[in-house]
Amino acid sequence: MNYKHITVAGSGVLGSQIAFQTAFKGFQVSIYDINDTVLETAKERLQGLKKRYQEDLAATQEDVNEAYGRISFYSDLAAATADADLVIEAIPEVVDIKVKFYNELGKTAPQKTVFATNSSTLLPSQFAEATGRPAQFLALHFANEIWKNNTAEVMKHPGTDMNVFQDVLQFAEAIGMVALPLHKEQPGYILNSLLVPLLESAQLLLSRGISDVETIDKTWKIATGAPLGPFAILDVVGINTAYHISLAKAKATGNAEFQKIADMLKTDYIDKGKLGKAAGEGFYSY
Ligand code: NAD
Repeated sequence: MNYKHITVAGSGVLGSQIAFQTAFKGFQVSIYDINDTVLETAKERLQGLKKRYQEDLAATQEDVNEAYGRISFYSDLAAATADADLVIEAIPEVVDIKVKFYNELGKTAPQKTVFATNSSTLLPSQFAEATGRPAQFLALHFANEIWKNNTAEVMKHPGTDMNVFQDVLQFAEAIGMVALPLHKEQPGYILNSLLVPLLESAQLLLSRGISDVETIDKTWKIATGAPLGPFAILDVVGINTAYHISLAKAKATGNAEFQKIADMLKTDYIDKGKLGKAAGEGFYSY
């Protein structure tokens, strides 16, 4: 892996974190977004991240200023990708937006450039053709607050070149992530393939009246040695997200049990302002 210059497309919640972490680890970073107004917002986000790195990682003012100094900002895709060894895409989770972006990127970026999507729910094979260079394309999936939650799930699609896969795994390590290889496509990667069924089962146990929040969490913690039970994890995820997932599942499957869970989350938690750990109260008080 001899990547030096990284372009991050999309400077929202995850894009700004990926850009800052990459710059913090010494790479030159170009941020690309749709216009200058959004780029100004990105600069504010990055100022916020500088503070978080100082608080959470004991980074010095000099460290974070140097990292910021390695970042440039562009609303022109050709300029943003002119030197790119790797483009990490973190634009909205909307198929049409991503397809249009990859069509343009494939025509604009240098031949050598590798593309990686940070998509949480879409599969790289959905975009491989649109990139015009399927062998140089894969998924590189980060978790929110990447400087602390430093997993990088690196997932091939059937056409990804093995050397590209290895290079991106090495790059993930080079920016301080724990690189987690997925050799085949899997919706939800490793983490959500494990976590979503666990959280769903816990909510079913509660809504069926089989047991209560504390007992369900206690069972999981004592029996497996896990530090958090499923409801404590849901508090971290946020009750709004859990609500939207249950609602979507109820609509997709027509299963009334998921509608019942969604209703419970809305009435007993969301409407009472119990939105999870960030709000100070969810299933537990903090
Ligand atoms: P976000 O809405 O915060 O940011 C999206 C950014 O993309 C915005 O700055 C927007 O201006 C920009 N954008 C829109 N259209 C664009 C285009 N055509 N070209 C370039 N930029 C464009 O979204 P987010 O939460 O950062 O999510 C981005 C991606 O990362 C999604 O695929 C999502 O699934 C994934 N992801 C998100 C999280 C999370 O916790 N938020 C975690 C892991 C992965």
